[in-house]
Amino acid sequence: MGRFRKTINEIRSKSFPEIKGKILLIIIPFPIPGGSVHWPLPRLKLLALTTKCRKLDDMVLRGIIAHELSHLSAFEKWGYKKFWKFYRKATKKEVIKHEKDTDKLTIKKGYGKEVIATKKKAKELLEGTRWEKYLDNYLTEEEVKKYIKKLEK
Ligand SMILES: [Zn+2]
Repeated sequence: MGRFRKTINEIRSKSFPEIKGKILLIIIPFPIPGGSVHWPLPRLKLLALTTKCRKLDDMVLRGIIAHELSHLSAFEKWGYKKFWKFYRKATKKEVIKHEKDTDKLTIKKGYGKEVIATKKKAKELLEGTRWEKYLDNYLTEEEVKKYIKKLEK
């Protein structure tokens, strides 16, 4: 079994038992590391990782995968119809809020350290490039640390 599949299975069975059905892994050629998810059929979910994820260390890879599984966990709660409504109708503002909520869920699931590692790596790789603006769609490293502290109280 490949490293991506193994990591997905491990994190899913440990922390995301609520996600139902099959998760198909797709690997997409892309110049930067990243992931995304989709729900094309009621019993089939997709998790895509880019080829550049192969270069990431385990901590960062786990952070990305836990974030993507957090999306699927939220979608599961919404149901298939609401997912499609969101996918087709969400405004940019709603999408950004959903990304930040997803970072928070990832932290609640126990992957705070991993999320911080992905933030550091994303900043290192994206700052000063054409992808830099994507950093604004997510919590910053400082916001992540603040949220972790808030949960510890
Ligand atoms: Zn996301």
